[in-house]
Amino acid sequence: MLIPSCKEVAEQLSENMDKPVTGIRGLRLKLHLWVCRNCRRYHDQMELTSKTIALMGSNKQPSEAVKKDMMERFRDAKTDSGKESAAD
Ligand SMILES: [Zn+2]
Repeated sequence: MLIPSCKEVAEQLSENMDKPVTGIRGLRLKLHLWVCRNCRRYHDQMELTSKTIALMGSNKQPSEAVKKDMMERFRDAKTDSGKESAAD
């Protein structure tokens, strides 16, 4: 299978939050994101969050409340992704 599953994509995205996925893995990841809007949404959230953390990290650590809120968003995104792709 050329295109990885939603689960693989979610794992790769969380593993590679601070560095881009390159080579064949990156290509397969991009392919999946191209065809799967659920993972694209998840990817956008991860990217936004890593940028936000980087921005905040230059001044101070994100507050516990902000971190908790972000983790909850990730959990929701993963749950949605699983449900919706099963219906596809
Ligand atoms: Zn997907």
